Amino acid sequence: MTESRTKIIDLLKMPAGGTVQVKGWVRTKRGNKSIVFIALNDGSTIHNVQIVYDMNVFSEEELRPVTTGACLRVRGELVPSLGTEQSVEIRAEEMEIYGTADPAAYPLQKKGHSMEFLREIAHLRPRTNTFGCIFRIRHAMAYAIHKYFNDKGFVYLHTPIITASDCEGAGAMFQVTTLDLKDPPKGKDGSVDFSRDFFGRQTSLTVSGQLEGELGAMALGEIYTFGPTFRAENSNTPRHLAEFWMIEPEMAFYDIHDNMDLAEDFIKYLVRYALENCAPDLQFLNNMIDKELIKRLEGVCDTQFVRLSYTEGIDILTGSGQTFEYPVSWGIDLQSEHERYLVEKHFKRPVILTDYPKEIKAFYMKENPDGKTVRAMDILFPKIGEIIGGSQREEDLETLVRRIREMNMSAENLDWYLDTRRFGTAPHSGFGLGFERLLLFITGMTNIRDVIPFPRTPKSAEF
Ligand code: ATP
Ligand code: MN
Repeated sequence: MTESRTKIIDLLKMPAGGTVQVKGWVRTKRGNKSIVFIALNDGSTIHNVQIVYDMNVFSEEELRPVTTGACLRVRGELVPSLGTEQSVEIRAEEMEIYGTADPAAYPLQKKGHSMEFLREIAHLRPRTNTFGCIFRIRHAMAYAIHKYFNDKGFVYLHTPIITASDCEGAGAMFQVTTLDLKDPPKGKDGSVDFSRDFFGRQTSLTVSGQLEGELGAMALGEIYTFGPTFRAENSNTPRHLAEFWMIEPEMAFYDIHDNMDLAEDFIKYLVRYALENCAPDLQFLNNMIDKELIKRLEGVCDTQFVRLSYTEGIDILTGSGQTFEYPVSWGIDLQSEHERYLVEKHFKRPVILTDYPKEIKAFYMKENPDGKTVRAMDILFPKIGEIIGGSQREEDLETLVRRIREMNMSAENLDWYLDTRRFGTAPHSGFGLGFERLLLFITGMTNIRDVIPFPRTPKSAEF
């Protein structure tokens, strides 16, 4: 017989009868001299299949190395289960042990571990129930994102990961170089001579694919990027990673309102997709991590997001009588505590804040007629704060060049970008959704390090 296997997710839907073969990792083992029960998991679902060993057929010696974490192939008959947790189970007839897991050394024994401990063994944590759920949901969300945009006729555009442009001063960048750090070539003035570096100039890992995305939108109409982005900011918070994934749609002929409509529809689609397609995993997380999770997800699908201007938001904060760690006044960059006050205390639903002071936003955002604010839109979510940052882009060449100068940036490096405004410019808009911030919301996890398989944060790049 071939080594074919039935995945547990399919097997649990099958009627009893017939021989099946499963392959997976042992979660638990219990029993006595005459009968032994094993819960086997193969990653296809949160649910385990129960394997029953008749100890008249198997020897104690054979079953001794079958401990938590061991990997097995089991063949047997699919029979009705007497247990209440599943309708079928496997009566083992034949077993092969692919790999043992010494109980004295295998760190994932039955009891619940702290998230901090599991982060230290991030290479093994996908074997836990919680992380199995999270990574299946992460996959489902990635798929849903592509499906959403594909169904709308957006083009998936691959923007570069190595770049020579500092998108917006969005955050400090990781430099990419092959120069000898101990003895780099120097110019006459003593500074490093990057013309002798690999690319003949100074390069970094991208902080955003937006600028290149705009080039795509000005030709293909509606595009999106979905890839890794990097920020060398030293922010050790539960919402920041040094390497994270971002979804950035960019659309020709969209104004800020079209942009908000798309963003709200997009997030609701993703939440609904998770509710419809990840129900067992969400139910597990709802039981174990956050009792309000499913209620909160359903709530978002049914409510209209509040839309108000930054200025109105500041008025609410200053009129709230609340004391904040960072005092509030017009012009400040909102902190997480302010965002969460508006969302969780004041409105009790997601909020889209628009028209921020131009000083705290990027150069490419479209200036309002008041000369003080720009057509930015940030979407603020309960428990997360900012989940999306976006704007209508400045399409007028002269205004854009003035903004670049005002922000003490060099227009020279951005000449290629300015060509979109020189030739056939058009109103256009876009936004960036942080994939891991979305996953925090969908899974109910509270630390962003726990929704990405291998987190990269200051002083940590394990595995
Ligand atoms: P924040 O103010 O929270 O640091 P930002 O204003 O720097 O975010 P943007 O530059 O607007 O963020 O990036 C777009 C989106 O990318 C954000 O709305 C957020 O969802 C996500 N994001 C930004 N920085 C990070 C990070 N360091 N780790 C994970 N996600 C991030
Ligand atoms: Mn932002």
